[in-house]
Amino acid sequence: MIQEFAPAKVNLALHVTGRRDDGYHLLDSIVVFADIGDRLTISDAPDLSLSVTGPRAADIPTDSRNLVWRAAEWLAAGRGAAITLDKTLPPAGGIGGGSSDAASALRGLSDLWARPRPAPQEVLPLGADVPVCLFGRPARMQGIGEVVCDLPDLPALWMVLANAGVEVPTGPVFKALTHAENAALPEPDWTDLPSLVAYLCHARNDLEAPARALVPVIGEVLDHLEAQPGCLLARMSGSGGTCFGLFGSAEAAQMAAARIGESKPDWWVDSGAVRAA
Ligand code: ATP
Repeated sequence: MIQEFAPAKVNLALHVTGRRDDGYHLLDSIVVFADIGDRLTISDAPDLSLSVTGPRAADIPTDSRNLVWRAAEWLAAGRGAAITLDKTLPPAGGIGGGSSDAASALRGLSDLWARPRPAPQEVLPLGADVPVCLFGRPARMQGIGEVVCDLPDLPALWMVLANAGVEVPTGPVFKALTHAENAALPEPDWTDLPSLVAYLCHARNDLEAPARALVPVIGEVLDHLEAQPGCLLARMSGSGGTCFGLFGSAEAAQMAAARIGESKPDWWVDSGAVRAA
């Protein structure tokens, strides 16, 4: 039996730098992964099957609409495996739930079926965030998601993730974006926590304004994160609506998550370390 963790993907910064003739947007993003995520259990079986358990299992498809299923078929159509996905990340939340699940499935199934793991750029057909999720460590992501490269080492960092429970489909957010021709990110050059925070403060998530216009409660989530003692930066991830707050210690992040959870018991709130590699 193989177990794989599927960490939340968080865009610390996301600039939309253009739009290709085929409609795909060009992105420039600083991507990290949190110690918060879904879990996959994979075992040998004659046929492919998928069951979804856990607090976020409702409405998650268990057939070829699920990215885990598509990843399995993409890797080796017709091969069998019994996969259980324990779902904790809010779907359509901008933290790459489906993409990270797919990347974890590719890792686990490659091992199970004794196949070489695919290279990140090969898996773009599964979705724009699947290459960076397969890369699986802090990355600068460019192009339409197929270009992923390492970042300078990150300082120790913790985050709080918060989601008000509204699913935010990616398509309408990109449609509501008014300026798609924005400057690329500055060259990553941080050496410690203050210089990382300074770098991020000079960057943005270009999808935050259109997502907030469509789903105003995202603004409330950001206000709650920003108000927490020790919050170094609060921003939306991906196309929303999950937002993150960055903290310099595990205790500060845990306290912040507990306080938000108390005042907003209906929201999904969790805290964890940012994975260094
Ligand atoms: P991204 O940050 O990559 O844009 P997201 O976090 O906004 O992704 P997902 O969690 O991947 O979005 O969910 C988008 C849709 O994909 C859901 O509405 C769901 O129906 C479908 N889906 C397919 N596979 C999965 C999966 N394994 N987990 C969650 N949703 C999935």
